[in-house]
Amino acid sequence: MNEKLSACPICDNHEKNIFLDGQDYFLTQKKFDIVECSSCGFRFTNPRPTVESAETYYQTDDYISHGTQESGIVPMLYGIARHFALRSKFGIVKRYSPGKAILDIGCGTGEFLNYCQRKGLRCTGVEPSVKARKFAETTYRLDVKPDFLNGIDPSVRFDCITLWHVLEHIHKLDETLKKLSRLLNKDGVLILALPNSNSYDAQYYGKFWAAYDLPRHIYHFTRESLTKLADKYNLSCQNVIPLKLDAYYISILSEKYKRGSTNYFQAFIRGLISNQKAGNPKIGHSSEIYILKSKIS
Ligand SMILES: [Zn+2]
Repeated sequence: MNEKLSACPICDNHEKNIFLDGQDYFLTQKKFDIVECSSCGFRFTNPRPTVESAETYYQTDDYISHGTQESGIVPMLYGIARHFALRSKFGIVKRYSPGKAILDIGCGTGEFLNYCQRKGLRCTGVEPSVKARKFAETTYRLDVKPDFLNGIDPSVRFDCITLWHVLEHIHKLDETLKKLSRLLNKDGVLILALPNSNSYDAQYYGKFWAAYDLPRHIYHFTRESLTKLADKYNLSCQNVIPLKLDAYYISILSEKYKRGSTNYFQAFIRGLISNQKAGNPKIGHSSEIYILKSKIS
């Protein structure tokens, strides 16, 4: 079941144009369009699956597929990459957040929160997948709620709230951002990692760009549209941090969607060019991390 949005989720304008006719290359091969608001330029999947039917587009069983007992070069490299990713995320949290209370929305199996917990932070997670949540609770003894809007007490305050590639999946964008902005402590930070649909690799691969990930991604942000959205909830952007490896990873997947086979050399070249062109603020990196703070002190 799909639903069609008549108004732009950011500015409420009703006029929009087709930006791109895409497809779910990852799982179902079904076709989906991305539209662009003619007033503010926000890009969103329209029509999109309803909240109830969205689940059919996720392979939830794959969440816990990477066991820790595996041996060999690939699991070892994967383990090293994961360690560096966790360390770099934690480094960003420490750099921008003064306090100890952290909320991670879409925490999955809880590896990032477990890392934070071991470094002394007070951790809360949100994860809708039952399997992933149970894993985080039993393996790392984390406090994980199934739902953000109903599960997190609105009177609690956090020094840091993180959404690592999560906001682009959330149906109730307005309610979510309202609540997020209110949950921040004075000097608290909201950290959002998002794909950037103005990046060079997005432009080069067009509808085959893997980070459109239709219809799991229902919003396709740019620096400009994210800034407009943040502004609506009295949040201001303090900094934008590039995720340079994403240009390569997304290019590898996009090559596969475009040509039917993986061409690592081509993907490497595209990733390289993407990171070179990203210095232009109208283009930016394949994926970026936004550091947001409340304007109300
Ligand atoms: Zn708009």
